Amino acid sequence: MKLNLNIQPLNTWINKTGIEPLVIAGPCSAETEDQLVATAHLLAKTGKISALRAGIWKPRTRPGEFEGIGSIGLEWLKRAKAETGLPTAVEVATAKHVEEALKAGVDILWVGARSTVNPFTVQEIADALRGVDVPVMVKNPVNPDLSLWVGALERINNAGITKLAAIHRGFSSYEKSAFRNEPMWDLAIGLKTLAPHLPIINDPSHITGNRDLIGYISQKALDLDMQGLMIESHIDPSVAWTDAAQQVTPAALSDIITNLHLRKPEV
Ligand code: PEP
Ligand code: MN
Repeated sequence: MKLNLNIQPLNTWINKTGIEPLVIAGPCSAETEDQLVATAHLLAKTGKISALRAGIWKPRTRPGEFEGIGSIGLEWLKRAKAETGLPTAVEVATAKHVEEALKAGVDILWVGARSTVNPFTVQEIADALRGVDVPVMVKNPVNPDLSLWVGALERINNAGITKLAAIHRGFSSYEKSAFRNEPMWDLAIGLKTLAPHLPIINDPSHITGNRDLIGYISQKALDLDMQGLMIESHIDPSVAWTDAAQQVTPAALSDIITNLHLRKPEV
């Protein structure tokens, strides 16, 4: 079986200059205007980053934790883009997020793992996207269920979004493991088999939960022919408000990227 998705190639909406590998980077959360803008400048200076990511509405597992800076972060993203030229990407989880992000000129939206599990949420996001030409990336659901991932991609595509990609961020598992979220590579390969033209971007930050393993997982993703990486980067990871253990400085990210080997085209 093949999925009937209507998709435009990745280079029609990101990485038009063909930087290899394609890397989307930025902090887990926008925390302050200075933190976001300074991180963006350092990332842009590496010359290796195709888009700036930052969460402003953060889905936290437990209440009482930092739940994102909210809509003011859209203004900071605008400034970061104006000063660095990097296109911006944010997570959206409700129709209101979609409307606000589009109004603020965010370039790329993504659906988070805790939203992909819920068809009502995904449909609400899809309905808010109807008639809009914006790129959307869909993270795999938290749980290892390929159908939920596929269903979310279909709902967004059915709403007319053709600049579409999947993000592989690993899956919750009851087993103890070195990883925060098990890669379960065969699920990503399963999606690739069902939709060979759908770009898959790997998120080694949320798979590993550990900055020391990001290079290893990134290489594995490229070896499996994934089309890009989304990596969390913070100007000072040790004081990050969320996901501190997995974020890397822009300089460390630059080194990680330099050490990656691109897959050679088959002859
Ligand atoms: C994130 O990208 O910071 C995030 C919350 O990721 P996920 O939805 O993969 O948990
Ligand atoms: Mn994060």
